Amino acid sequence: MVRGRFAPSPSGRIHLGNILCCLLAWLSARQRGGGVVLRIEDLDTTRCPGRYAGQMEEDLRWLGLIWDEGPGAGGPDGPYYQSERTALYQAALDRLTDMGLVYPCFCTRAELHAASAPHREDGQTVYPGTCRHLTAAEAAERTKVRSPALRLLVPEEEIAFADGHMGEYREHLARDCGDFLLRRSDGMFAYQLAVVVDDAAMGVTEVVRGADLLASTPRQLLLYRLLGLKAPAFIHLPLLLAPDGRRLSKRDADAGLDCLRGRSTAEEVLGKLAYLAGFNPSAEPRTAEALLADFSWERVPGEDIRIPSGLF
Ligand code: GLU
Repeated sequence: MVRGRFAPSPSGRIHLGNILCCLLAWLSARQRGGGVVLRIEDLDTTRCPGRYAGQMEEDLRWLGLIWDEGPGAGGPDGPYYQSERTALYQAALDRLTDMGLVYPCFCTRAELHAASAPHREDGQTVYPGTCRHLTAAEAAERTKVRSPALRLLVPEEEIAFADGHMGEYREHLARDCGDFLLRRSDGMFAYQLAVVVDDAAMGVTEVVRGADLLASTPRQLLLYRLLGLKAPAFIHLPLLLAPDGRRLSKRDADAGLDCLRGRSTAEEVLGKLAYLAGFNPSAEPRTAEALLADFSWERVPGEDIRIPSGLF
């Protein structure tokens, strides 16, 4: 049985990119008779002030993208807010620590961005392993002055997988990413750990999300393996670009649902998005239910999609 999910971060009102992602996750699961879980990824409480989560749920309902398990719907795998699931992340971290794979890192942000650190294509730095070889005594000494972040020791190994839409993707973690964060120095668990623990605990079999997270997948696959968990299938969708070619973000007020709801119906928003994503023959209004008949991953392009100006 297919089980998809929506995993939005409530850092603002949802925008067209988030909506397309939820629409495709919903269609992909529903078309094969599967269900959808809604999980609110609000781990970063400073970036995700409480007020947006409820609004997000209301916006998804307005769009007709209804979930079977999650806030308001209940279900056996709650709570569905990441901020209430930290005990589970701690248990996974303890497990990795017991395996000898976790070490404390005292590097400051400035040190990490120092010119010597190579940068990945997505702008993140490759961790050079500075704190990997600290002795227990050195680490204890430094902990007195600064609380450490925790990193996972990654193997010298290439991790490859077949993405359901983007095809083969591979990464040599030690070279292209380095030992990555499991918990920040302020105690906040890292997205990479939380998302793996949650998708596994919630029985998710299919992860549909934006191509900006393609490069996170090898890290997550490593965590699935180390924690003895079954990995879901991954399907990454192209990103939506603003009419000027920039990546859409929460700052693009026009693309936010607060603006869109004032001038469009849900069917208009979904119909236009489905048209841009290749599976609505024209930009005519459609409900999510009606789009089930036309949706196919084969129709969705592989490249980023630019929103024509004036379409919404
Ligand atoms: N919470 C993430 C976001 O809103 C998505 C994480 C995921 O789909 O794995 O960007």
